[in-house]
Amino acid sequence: MPSRPCCARGCPRVTTPDGYGDYCPKHARHYRRHGHPEQDPLTKGEVTRLKKYVTKLIDRRRNSPEIWDKLDSSHRALLSDLRAESLTTKVVYRGNRHKFMLLHAMEAAEAKDFILTALAISYLHEYDSRRFKSDEAFFVSLARRILMFNRTSWSGRLTPVERKDGSRTLWKTQTYRDPARYYSSEVGKMVAKVFYPPGVALRQGEIRTDKMTADVLRAPVEALTLDA
Ligand SMILES: [Zn+2]
Repeated sequence: MPSRPCCARGCPRVTTPDGYGDYCPKHARHYRRHGHPEQDPLTKGEVTRLKKYVTKLIDRRRNSPEIWDKLDSSHRALLSDLRAESLTTKVVYRGNRHKFMLLHAMEAAEAKDFILTALAISYLHEYDSRRFKSDEAFFVSLARRILMFNRTSWSGRLTPVERKDGSRTLWKTQTYRDPARYYSSEVGKMVAKVFYPPGVALRQGEIRTDKMTADVLRAPVEALTLDA
């Protein structure tokens, strides 16, 4: 198959000559990594800020201990389901690989860190759905942050680095290995199934609180117009 223009908006590059994809190598890699060729990646800093914010949202609610308990037990339930399944199936194949991937990530992560990451990205989707170019971009972006908890998803590489005095040394850099988009997407769906609803609820609760504040602020004005 001859090269064709890349399908990403405004991209001047072409597809690889013998490839069947619609995108140039750069956009094909971006698609695999972020679930959409034009998806803005979720940065670590952005997720960290969101996690802090979501923590605040929960802590300022009167029933916050209950909410944390509920999130904890959802996390435990998901983990024990995955553990039970891995014990019975044992063999990894296309149909269950994503379950093993999620299991390993969950076992490597601290429960609270895992919960907050899933919750923060779900909250973000409800807060600004345009942050994600498609449903798949949401699932894959969510999965990427989750799968990064698993240290075996990282591979080391030695890079030559020049010291200030001109001598050279080898520096170990770690890169995250992106799984095929299908698996990331499936991992994202499993996580979203459990943590998307509470993420949405947090945002909805926030809107209600904002509305209450707005009502209170409007009240004196209404009182004046009623008197007139
Ligand atoms: Zn391109």
